[in-house]
Amino acid sequence: LEARFGLKQLSTGDLLRAAVAKGTDAGKEAKAVMERGDLVSDEIVINILSDRLAEPDCAEGVIFDGFPRTQAQAEALDVLLADMGQSLNAVLELQVDDAILVDRILGRAEEARAAGKPVRADDTAETLAQRLSAYHADTAPLISFYEHKDVLQGVDAMQPIDQVQANLAASVEHALA
Ligand code: AMP
Repeated sequence: LEARFGLKQLSTGDLLRAAVAKGTDAGKEAKAVMERGDLVSDEIVINILSDRLAEPDCAEGVIFDGFPRTQAQAEALDVLLADMGQSLNAVLELQVDDAILVDRILGRAEEARAAGKPVRADDTAETLAQRLSAYHADTAPLISFYEHKDVLQGVDAMQPIDQVQANLAASVEHALA
């Protein structure tokens, strides 16, 4: 999607993991929260994201990945974008059954381990259960928030990767048209 549409992918998870690795104040605060599978505070996430959004490589457009995850983040994003004279073109909801998601993520950890690559500290069955519970409690309500704004597009993410990729690209193309 980045290459095809000239967008920059901004993953708040990646930004937070970089802050943890660097040992910044925000990273220190986020580390234990992430290892538990809970959500990092809105304040930290919004600060980290708004700083990144101000960098020049975001000027042509952005794909927010894993953000917003709470109502407060969604509202802060509206304000941030309005200040920049921008707005959301689309919100893509990747729809997957929880059990399949758990299999995929444990599979990702297993593959990384087998390849001698680093395994995410939160890709364990226990932490995943907490991550899913945070999703259902705090993030799933945003589906109706964005439905009301008429920007939500559901994508069936139970299909094979190339199919999901094609559907996501079609959704983005439609949203940018
Ligand atoms: P992810 O890389 O999207 O799977 O996120 C990994 C972890 O980072 C999550 O379980 C949260 O602890 C934290 N995180 C990432 N994005 C957010 C966000 N938008 N709000 C709060 N916490 C977040």
